Amino acid sequence: MKRFEGKTCIVTGGAKGIGAAIAWRLGIEGCNVAVFDIDEEAGAYRVGELAKAGVRARFYRVDVSNEEQVFKGVGNVYADFGGVNVLVNNAGIGFTGRSIEEQSIEEWRRIIDVNLTGPWLCSKHVVKYMKKTGGVIVNIASTRALQSEPNTEPYSASKGGLLALTHSLAISLAKYRIRVLAVSPGWIDTSEWQFPPRKPSLTRLDHEWHPAGRVGRPEDVASLVAFLASDEAGWMTGVNVVVDGGVTSRMVYLD
Ligand code: NAD
Repeated sequence: MKRFEGKTCIVTGGAKGIGAAIAWRLGIEGCNVAVFDIDEEAGAYRVGELAKAGVRARFYRVDVSNEEQVFKGVGNVYADFGGVNVLVNNAGIGFTGRSIEEQSIEEWRRIIDVNLTGPWLCSKHVVKYMKKTGGVIVNIASTRALQSEPNTEPYSASKGGLLALTHSLAISLAKYRIRVLAVSPGWIDTSEWQFPPRKPSLTRLDHEWHPAGRVGRPEDVASLVAFLASDEAGWMTGVNVVVDGGVTSRMVYLD
């Protein structure tokens, strides 16, 4: 299937993990791929792999929390490819698991900056170009926006904010034929999409915890993003789609 022939996407955090799988999937479906990331070595490797598969791909060193870098990066993508049709706001950082009394303001600010301000900045600067053709913005949130274990406050708040940014932008941008969607993955094993690749260190119990019988793979998220970014999802905007092997829906009984 070549659902993105002649189109150009920006995938933030596309050098590794889920973002790398999304960049790969959109690329093999015909999209030109712009990878925004701060990891230059992994970014260069990733666009090299895409180029070997015949995909027009370029790496741009962009910290998504830095407005000047985002502004320049998006302008360079337009200059290089002549359009920006899909933006995947995937770059994100996790949490340390410290209690709220031990969390620092620096940690809070950095997580909010990358996970929430970053998608806002990238969206802000692609709109000028997307308005010309219509387009799609997909925000990678998390099931932790919807449910929590202890000590995830900065991360959960950043992803909850991202869901609100999604529906708010969707309403503002619908008149330009720009759709905005969120995807909330559950536990995704990114080991094979790291650079250099890592060995998975999952146990049988990790897989069995999931009603679907296994931990998620980056490809599970990538195929959903490709569907949402394609014309097949043309009447979808403003909503969040959970991809978690059934964990969020499962009722837990205490014996
Ligand atoms: P990862 O750490 O494997 O990859 C993240 C990528 O983002 C890296 O290439 C990193 O260099 C890049 N990055 C980090 N900060 C950046 C910045 N300031 N500017 C540009 N790039 C930056 O992470 P992942 O597991 O693939 O996660 C990707 C997204 O999916 C994140 O938003 C994460 O919160 C979300 N997510 C992951 C899981 C999971 O289980 N892996 C579950 C739910 C949601």
